[in-house]
Amino acid sequence: MNKLTPMMKQYFQIKENYKDSILFFRLGDFYEMFFEDAIVASRVLEIALTGKNCGLEERAPMCGVPFHSSSSYISKLIENGYKVAICEQVEDPSVSKGLVKRDVVRVVSPGTVMEENLLDNKKNNYLLSVYKEDNTIGISYVDITTGDFYATRIEESNLIEEIAKVQPKEVIYFNVESEQLQTICTLNNSYLNNDSSMYYNDDDNILEKYFSKDYINTLNLNENIHMKFSLIGLLNYIFSTQKQISSNISTISIYNSNDFMSIDMFTRLNLELTRTLRSKQKKGSLLHVLDRTNTAMGGRLLRKWIEQPLINKEKIQERLDLIEEIKDDFSLREDLNEELKNIYDIERLCGKLAFEKINPKELINLKESIKKIPGIKELLRESNTKHMKKLVNDIDDLIDIYKLIDESIIEEPSLTLKDGNIIKSSYDEDINRLRDLTKNGAAVISEIEDKERSKTGIKSLKIGFNKVFGYYIEITKANLKQFETPNYYIRKQTLSNAERFITEELKTIEEQILNAKEKIKDLEYSIFIQVRSRLYENINRIQQVAKTIAFIDVINSLGKVAYQNNYCKPNITDKDKLCIVNGRHPVVENIIGEENFVPNDTELNTSDSKIGIITGPNMAGKSTYMRQVSLIALLAHIGSFVPAQRADIPIVDRIFTRVGASDDLSQGQSTFMVEMTEVSHILKNATKNSLVILDEIGRGTSTFDGLSLAWSIVEYINEKIGCKTLFATHYHELTELEEKLFGIKNYCVAVKEQGEDIIFLRKIIKGGADQSYGIHVAKLAELPEAVIKRANEILEQLEGCEEKKEDFSMKVKESAVTNEEYSIDNKKDASNEQISFGILEKETILKEILSLNIVGMTPIDAMNALYNLQNKAKLIGDDVN
Ligand code: ADP
Ligand code: MG
Repeated sequence: MNKLTPMMKQYFQIKENYKDSILFFRLGDFYEMFFEDAIVASRVLEIALTGKNCGLEERAPMCGVPFHSSSSYISKLIENGYKVAICEQVEDPSVSKGLVKRDVVRVVSPGTVMEENLLDNKKNNYLLSVYKEDNTIGISYVDITTGDFYATRIEESNLIEEIAKVQPKEVIYFNVESEQLQTICTLNNSYLNNDSSMYYNDDDNILEKYFSKDYINTLNLNENIHMKFSLIGLLNYIFSTQKQISSNISTISIYNSNDFMSIDMFTRLNLELTRTLRSKQKKGSLLHVLDRTNTAMGGRLLRKWIEQPLINKEKIQERLDLIEEIKDDFSLREDLNEELKNIYDIERLCGKLAFEKINPKELINLKESIKKIPGIKELLRESNTKHMKKLVNDIDDLIDIYKLIDESIIEEPSLTLKDGNIIKSSYDEDINRLRDLTKNGAAVISEIEDKERSKTGIKSLKIGFNKVFGYYIEITKANLKQFETPNYYIRKQTLSNAERFITEELKTIEEQILNAKEKIKDLEYSIFIQVRSRLYENINRIQQVAKTIAFIDVINSLGKVAYQNNYCKPNITDKDKLCIVNGRHPVVENIIGEENFVPNDTELNTSDSKIGIITGPNMAGKSTYMRQVSLIALLAHIGSFVPAQRADIPIVDRIFTRVGASDDLSQGQSTFMVEMTEVSHILKNATKNSLVILDEIGRGTSTFDGLSLAWSIVEYINEKIGCKTLFATHYHELTELEEKLFGIKNYCVAVKEQGEDIIFLRKIIKGGADQSYGIHVAKLAELPEAVIKRANEILEQLEGCEEKKEDFSMKVKESAVTNEEYSIDNKKDASNEQISFGILEKETILKEILSLNIVGMTPIDAMNALYNLQNKAKLIGDDVN
């Protein structure tokens, strides 16, 4: 090892502290990677792996990427789950002696990226910190690109829900079981940083580095140790990656998760609030329908509103009233659109400003955005609105900021800082003069020539240029004798017939001309830095404006959607009755068109209509209907208008949605186990004020188990919790509950039979469905004709027994899989089927006997009935034997 070259020694010293990152080691115009890093990076980045002599016997594996295009390579490594430590030359190689000093200037990790291509402009990029002690957790998270910073304290049991809400890009933690966290992180597409516990110490008093003492005192952190240490971890980690105390981070929003509607992870996923279950894309989600925002800031805020609906009636009402004004004022809406469209992402521009990553072009973008502010204020001020108007008072014109950029930065500046073309000539006298010089170098020289001629009276005096002496004044020997040379002429060279001189002035001009270009660049750079720091001093004001713009954008978007999609303003009521007239599913109607969507009513309360049991065939529209109800309730809590003709919505503390045995969500566990765990969570956490949607719960186990569970779950909710509940089920038996228990109502989705076919009417009506229409649906799904025919034959045999259809059709499915050619005659399979068939048949016979109205029968009827029963009994007897 001691034979290592000095540079390699330096490499190893640095690498020692960044073992968990890929080290980008700056060598000239390249970032080089060595050893294991090189092997990994060459594979991930698909670049050539070479070798470098490092003093050891074997050459060091090496690969490299050009400095100027490094950001795309960094992005690719981050996307593949690596962190990158960027090691720069920290002294000027041209003036340093020996080995250039190098140091890591920044570590890039998923939660701390600044690279635009790694950021979703309408989504925050959060780094989240979790600190646990006893059963309490402190959580804090920050988006360093925007400065959004939040913290709270929660019970350990709410951790999953909170992470699902925030959807952080990276999670750091202390004292939390990593396996549990890993599962949550995987589901939310977050990177779990397992080497993060070391950041949770307060050796450096990190809070005081980022915030003033006074501010920290207002946070009362000593009474909230969990939050305090979660913040310490977060800030230490940020410092360790950014290596600078920058501050687009100015305040921490401390919130109480109880101030928002609680929505657990599965409900979020099921309701497809911000992404779809299957493709995980925004398209097809509720957010996608609602998002007509014009700015990235508005897009992010809208997402936040959807992720955390309010439960405070006044706050909801405030939003609704604003949206109403926008909805009703077409021209205000359109005019605002026009202005907002041209506003750049001011929040992220502020982030770049704070982290000194902003370029001159981006300052122009900031200026252009600020330019729109007076127009927006004017629009609001002159509008016929009552509430929107008030927003004007919150908006700072930022005129000084606009002026500063406008006066200093040229309209189409370069994207880089050191190549000039940044500062307006009119902004700085020196720059002006230097630019003149480079443009008019020749003219300036001939001006001097003229001046010297008239001073000396020598008409043939001329100024020349050579590489050795630069500019010089040349006077012939003849003239020298005749005229006196000024005393500031410095003799430089004697020729046979002439003398050459220089002057101070000429030297200065010469130097200026020759160096002007370089000088301009340096000067422009330093003026840019000055402008940048003056802007940075005002960052809070700019951020504040960005927040208001985002707010206006979201209100405008929701107003536009309410108008275009024909939504109504919900009544937020204090009563417990939830009543929706002609409600629609916001996403489904968006796909198929409002005119094709069949609207439905809903009425739920906490007395006689607590639980709605919904039956109806597959594909009838049960799931759509129940989701529509929860989405309408949720939209109302966001403060949005809702897809309905009329809606009375009481404040709901929690919404739960569960889908029976859904494979999408199972993470290794049995689907039924997952289903039951989720149901257990609901039964433990739902209150009287919750809204619960249960979709085919009990599907994942055998019929009798499933039915029994479904039954007792409904009973429990009705008696013990008393919350509004919709329960879709294929167990028609559950409809019997309506008569047995107060609070339960039956509904079904209407279908119309037409010969062998059925038509889905999509209309929810009172009463229970009496048929499953499974075979009809199978026919619609274009199962082979033979299968449908045979199924109908079997069905005929089974008629009268709901249960059997289920079980038997399941058997049919199994045998179709196990046998190449499906045949019901196959001995083994047939006998299997008939055993269960027999059990069911016995039950039917029993039921039939019990249901006989013996007193009302004629003797002939009785004989016939007995005869039929005996025949059926015979059938079973044969099979069992
Ligand atoms: P179920 O849960 O009863 O099996 P779904 O709710 O999944 O049925 O609905 C099946 C399909 O029917 C949906 O994909 C949707 O396109 C359509 N649908 C459901 N409800 C309606 C409605 N009210 N109007 C129009 N189409 C509907
Ligand atoms: Mg369904």
